[in-house]
Amino acid sequence: MSTDIKDIAVVGSGIGGALISALNKDKDLILFEKDINLGGCASTFKKKGNYFNAGATTFVGYEDNHPIKNIFDKASFVPDIKKSEIAIRIIQNGKTLDRVKDFEEFLENLNEIYPHKNNRIFWTKIRDLDARFWQFKDLYFAKHSLSSYIKTISSNLKLFSIFGFDILKSADSFIDETLNDITKEYKDFINSQLLITLQTTSNEVSLISLALGLSYPFHDVFYANGGMGAIFDGLLKDIDVHSKEEILNIKKEKDFFRIISNKNEYKSKKVILNSTAYDSSILFDDEQIKKYYNSFSFSDQSAFVIYMSLKKENIKEELLHHYQIILDENIPNSISNSFFISISSLDDKKMSSDSYSITISTHTKALYWKNLLQEDYEKQKTLTQEFIVNEFLKNFTSIKKEDIKNCVSATSKTFKRYINRYNCGGKAITIKNILQTPSCNTPFENLHNVGDTIFAGQGWPGIALGVEILNKELND
Ligand SMILES: Cc1cc2nc3c(=O)[nH]c(=O)nc-3n(C[C@H](O)[C@H](O)[C@H](O)COP(=O)(O)OP(=O)(O)OC[C@H]3O[C@@H](n4cnc5c(N)ncnc54)[C@H](O)[C@@H]3O)c2cc1C
Repeated sequence: MSTDIKDIAVVGSGIGGALISALNKDKDLILFEKDINLGGCASTFKKKGNYFNAGATTFVGYEDNHPIKNIFDKASFVPDIKKSEIAIRIIQNGKTLDRVKDFEEFLENLNEIYPHKNNRIFWTKIRDLDARFWQFKDLYFAKHSLSSYIKTISSNLKLFSIFGFDILKSADSFIDETLNDITKEYKDFINSQLLITLQTTSNEVSLISLALGLSYPFHDVFYANGGMGAIFDGLLKDIDVHSKEEILNIKKEKDFFRIISNKNEYKSKKVILNSTAYDSSILFDDEQIKKYYNSFSFSDQSAFVIYMSLKKENIKEELLHHYQIILDENIPNSISNSFFISISSLDDKKMSSDSYSITISTHTKALYWKNLLQEDYEKQKTLTQEFIVNEFLKNFTSIKKEDIKNCVSATSKTFKRYINRYNCGGKAITIKNILQTPSCNTPFENLHNVGDTIFAGQGWPGIALGVEILNKELND
């Protein structure tokens, strides 16, 4: 048993756990990670001699005045990244749209693929709302104390003064009034982009969320050299990281938390959970804490991910880092008609050592896979994998089936086995559900939350916003 009392114990090294640890590395901080690799959904793992990104592959927000860059600068860490000049190439029915940062270039390409007389009006508004959001520096969201509620209301009033009634507008009403008679293809494109950024489609989100969800390629989008996991290895290099150590139980004592892992027992004044809001109640025996975590309704959404290595020598075409293929019909066992492809850079010595490392993902229900019997599970997994691989090959004429060296896939059950979560992503925030959204503070003193199921959202930018708020709570 470790006898000293730590200042902060962080449970989980996902984006949230890693960023908050890096910001507080001057404290007596300890970080626990169940898996061998750091980074959770954004980790990089090795299989059969090749490295693969488990989930996240695009790194957005490393720009001045953005929470990501601010946090990295404060932690004095410069990531090894490379700009993707074309953030994503969208392919739909043989037509191609490149999401590039240059607005006019994007618009010109968009008008060829999805012509509409109001395209400029629509996308100008989308880009401007996004730009205004990231200029806003007083975002705050916390609950469970009078001062937190007052600060949250004050932040919302400031947001209202910036966005006016746009803040109350729904995404679909804006789409209907601006892009009236939008074609199914165009709407599918918008929704497939929202699925990767917001985990949902336009009928469920506000106009502001629509703007944030569609605008990320108007920012610099980066590729992480050596895999996304390399960012975590660098960011956490000065931190007391205990990987392959799972926290099994946390007890609240008078002045500290007693933390029991599969290897040891620790004490800490503060605990920050990077486990999801849906998976944290099992860590406690205390009925009140259990009740608090059980009060969040599960977000039954997850990812189906294919990891593939592809022989380099036969592939003559120059491959981009990211593609999104949009089909007419949904993928079997998926809730989407699109999939996202990430390809390692040819000059990345680790990821592309003897073959391209490819991660392909689509959206599925989490509980669907959990509830299948083993035989059916394997059958459905193969069906989905083969369908996607087939569609992938149809869209890259220079790639042949024989070029695929290894190919495996992951479902929500795989995510649970490695990183303790069935679901991927949190719930998109709407005016209706904002009060149910978990915040970085809890009703229990010195117990905090961080990650993509907590305000403000998923991915590097969304989680970084939550980390900045949590960091103020910890240190102000
Ligand atoms: C397929 C896919 C593709 C994505 N693509 C992108 C992208 O391109 N760009 C982007 O920005 N975002 C992307 N995202 C979203 C992004 O990856 C996630 O939102 C983000 O990584 C989640 O971070 P988190 O802080 O919530 O932690 P998580 O990733 O959930 O990590 C939590 C960590 O805590 C550990 N843990 C949990 N319980 C315990 C315990 N009891 N003891 C010890 N350790 C524990 C887990 O093992 C895990 O490592 C993608 C997500 C998926 C699934």
